Amino acid sequence: MTAWVAREHHRFEAAGKPFVYLVPSAAIFALDDAADSVLRMLSTKPRTREELADVMTDHAALDAAIAELSRVQAIGIAAAPIPPTPKVIPLAPFPLTTMVLNVTNQCNLSCTYCYEYGEDKIVDTENGKQPKFMSEETARESVEFMLKESGANKVAHITFFGGETLLNFPVLRKTITYARQRAAEVGKDVDFSLTTNATLLKPEIIEFLAEERVGVTISIDGPKEVQDKFRVFQNGTGSYDLVAPKIKELLKRHRSRPIGARVTLTSGKMDVKRIYQHLTDEIGFWEVGFAPVTTSPNRAHAISDGGYDEMLGQFRDLAFEFLETTVAGRHHGFSNVKETLEELHKGVSKAFPCGAGLGLLGVATDGDVALCHRFAGSDSHKFGTVRDGVDRGAQQAFLEQHHIANKTDCSVCWARPLCSGGCYHEAHTRYGDTTHANLHYCNWIRGWTEVCLQVYGELSERNPAFLAQFDDEEMKELVS
Ligand code: SF4
Ligand code: SF4
Repeated sequence: MTAWVAREHHRFEAAGKPFVYLVPSAAIFALDDAADSVLRMLSTKPRTREELADVMTDHAALDAAIAELSRVQAIGIAAAPIPPTPKVIPLAPFPLTTMVLNVTNQCNLSCTYCYEYGEDKIVDTENGKQPKFMSEETARESVEFMLKESGANKVAHITFFGGETLLNFPVLRKTITYARQRAAEVGKDVDFSLTTNATLLKPEIIEFLAEERVGVTISIDGPKEVQDKFRVFQNGTGSYDLVAPKIKELLKRHRSRPIGARVTLTSGKMDVKRIYQHLTDEIGFWEVGFAPVTTSPNRAHAISDGGYDEMLGQFRDLAFEFLETTVAGRHHGFSNVKETLEELHKGVSKAFPCGAGLGLLGVATDGDVALCHRFAGSDSHKFGTVRDGVDRGAQQAFLEQHHIANKTDCSVCWARPLCSGGCYHEAHTRYGDTTHANLHYCNWIRGWTEVCLQVYGELSERNPAFLAQFDDEEMKELVS
C-alpha cells in the first residue's frame, strides 16, 4: 500500500490559523484543519491513507487534503525519490542590473565599526594602489560599461558609494549628466541612488539630488547618544549635531523619492524601537532599515549570541507594530520587514544570497570591477575592469563555487530559500572565506524569517491588498 510522507516544509501559525512554507518551491499556503492534521501526522513518519483514515473520521476531507497537499508537493509518496534541486548557474553573459560606483574610498568620519577602515578591512585605502577619488574619465568608462553590460534591460541602476560619497560630488554630478545623455542615445533609462553620511549635504547638493530624482539613503544610527557613540570624526567628536539639521533640510526639499535611513546595530546599540521612532517621528525619514554590524567576533562592538536574541526580540516587536499599522491602512517604514514580505510574496528562492557577482557589481576608484561595493579594490575578488569588461571565466568560477548546493550546512535548513548562506562579505570577515555559510547567525535568520512569515500570514488574512502591491513590482537589488 502507498505510504505518504511530508516533504520539506516549515509550519507556522498566523491569524489563529496554520500555514505552511514549502521549502523547495518557497510557496506559502494556508491549511484547513484536515490538511494541517495530515501534514502533521506525515511529518512524524510515513503513513498510508488507511492509517490516516483510522485517525481522521471525515474521509472526504482526508482525501481532499491528500489530493491538495500532494498537488502542491507538501507531501509525496514515501518510496518515490526526492528529485534533487538542480544546480542552475545563470548563462553568461548575465545582464548587469545595478552598478555600485565607489567614487571615493576616503571618508571624513571615523566610525569605529566601519568595515572599510577598521581592523576588518579588505582593501588598503590609505597606502594601496587605489586612487583616493575616482576620476571623471573612469566614471565615464564605468557608465559605458554599465550600458553595455545591462544587455537588454531597459533601465540601468547606478548607485554611488564610498567612503563618503559626497567627498567626490563634482564627479558624481558630471557622471549623472553624462549617463543620462548616453543612456538616451542608446534608448535606455538610468536610475540613480547614493548612500551618504549626510555630513556634506548643503543647499546646492540637496537641490541637485532633488532635481535629478536621486534616491538617497543616509547612514545614521539614531538619536544623539547612539549616533555619537561610533559615528565620530577623527578627533572623536560626534556627528549628530552636524547631520540632524542637514537631513531635515534634505527631507524638506527632496520629495521626489522616499528617503531612507540605514542603521548599523552593534552590541551597545540595541534599542531598535527607540531608534526607529527617533528617525521616523523626530527626524522624518520615510523608511528605516537595520543591519547588524559586520565584524570579527572578538571586537567589542560585535554582537554576541545573546545580542542576536535581543535583536530578534526587538525586530519582532517592530515587525508587529508594522503589521498593526499596515492593517489600519497607514504607512510604516520598517524596511527590513517589507523587503522580506516582498521576497516571500514573490516566492523568491535564492541559489545565491544576493546579486553580488551576478546582477550587481562594484567598481573601485581605479575602474576595477569586483563582486560588490564592499570588495571593490580587492584583487582577490576582482572580476575585470570597466575598460576590459567582465572576466566571464572568473565570474562563472565564482558562481559555481558559491552556489547554495555547495553549502552542505544549509542543505537541511528551511530558511535557505531566503538566506542562501548569507552575505559573502560577512562570511569573509568571520571565516576568511566567502564560500562559508554564515553559521554564526542561523538562529537569528530563522527567527527573523519566522516573524516575517507570521506577519505575511496575518496580512494575507487581514489586508491582502497590501501584499498585492508586490505583484507588479520588479525585484530590486539591495545594496547593504
Ligand atoms: S546560513 Fe544558516 S540560516 Fe542561512 S541558509 Fe545556511 S543554515 Fe540556514
Ligand atoms: S549582501 Fe554582502 S556580498 Fe551581497 S551585496 Fe551586500 S555586502 Fe555585498
